[in-house]
Amino acid sequence: MNAQQIKEGAQQYLANTYGRFDLVLERGKGATVSDTEGKEYIDLGSGIGVNSLGFADEGWVREVTKQLGKLAHTSNLYYSAPCVELAKVLCTRTGMKKVFFCNSGAEANEGAIKAARKYSLERYGKGRHTIVSLQNSFHGRTMATLSATGQDVFHQNFDPFLEGFRFAPAGDTDKTLSMLTEDVCAVMIELIQGEGGVVPLERDYVKAVADCCKKRDILLLVDEVQTGIGRTGKLLCCEHYGLLPDIITLAKGLGGGLPIGAVLFGEKCENTLGPGDHGSTFGGNPAVCAGALAVLSRLDDAMLGEIEKKGAYLRESFEKLPGVQSVTGLGLMIGLQPAEGIAARDIVTRAIQKGAIPLTAKSKVRLLPPLAISWEELEKAAAILSECFEEGE
Ligand SMILES: *Cc1c(COP(=O)(O)O)cnc(C)c1O
Repeated sequence: MNAQQIKEGAQQYLANTYGRFDLVLERGKGATVSDTEGKEYIDLGSGIGVNSLGFADEGWVREVTKQLGKLAHTSNLYYSAPCVELAKVLCTRTGMKKVFFCNSGAEANEGAIKAARKYSLERYGKGRHTIVSLQNSFHGRTMATLSATGQDVFHQNFDPFLEGFRFAPAGDTDKTLSMLTEDVCAVMIELIQGEGGVVPLERDYVKAVADCCKKRDILLLVDEVQTGIGRTGKLLCCEHYGLLPDIITLAKGLGGGLPIGAVLFGEKCENTLGPGDHGSTFGGNPAVCAGALAVLSRLDDAMLGEIEKKGAYLRESFEKLPGVQSVTGLGLMIGLQPAEGIAARDIVTRAIQKGAIPLTAKSKVRLLPPLAISWEELEKAAAILSECFEEGE
């Protein structure tokens, strides 16, 4: 199929759920990807925070291929090594106690919500099932995770939602604490709201909420689906906040390009979910876990340090630009607010024409480049993007 046939085929056969850019991608290496005509682009989105090591990383391909040749899939009715090894690495490196594997961020949050409700039911009985999440949050597209998502745009057309979700104003400590009433079993937060426009929570706010949760035995669920696995320059964004939550959810960058989600349980609720309570046919799939192990083996202190440096370089490059109103984010998760009257989507369209592919998040241009992006690719991308912002004025 040539580019035209692919676009027409998409129109005819794919459900029309995405507003796609006019770009047909074919193959990539590192942070560089080419279209069907062979034109090259620098990837600043990683397939929305997924391709941690970039495209076709040799070590990652080798490990996944090796596992595919041995045992691509088995069920969770039996034991196999890759998911156990991955769970061990995740627990050892995060201080969490147990892991449940699934296939996406939404599913990870579903698992977290179910665990929080059961934890509370077992201790306090019926009625203490409310989950407080934040306004402007994003937790996924399933019915429960949409119910937890604090943005009206995602709520149109799908009523009724699950009962027992309430949205607190992010950053407003008094208001948030006043919402932690007796019916609340958990608070669910993103430390940097990703889809909400790369908006970091303030440390004091997070500390106040975490302290209150601890005092009242309300579980703190931190959704690290976008911020986790090195994205912010630490393995978990929690580390920036000195936080050890009760439940952490992961997905996006964990598999390095293969679908995986994980729910990490802390001490309080490590045994809450028991046999039959929850499950997933593909969860802990050996090939996918081999990919995740390859990602984690590369994310050592040296690489995390590089991520911080590269993030700082990008932020500095854009802080000076008159076409950029504000720069937010940590590590290689960056939000750029274009000057008044300039649409983020127009900047992205222009960048694609010039050979770089950033994302948007609400009114911002969002950068989530592969964590393994080279300095050369980074500098080239920064130059292209700067031009796009300058022309926008
Ligand atoms: C992307 C995202 C999700 C949903 O993940 P999917 O894999 O698309 O289901 C949930 N939470 C956050 C913070 C995300 O960024």
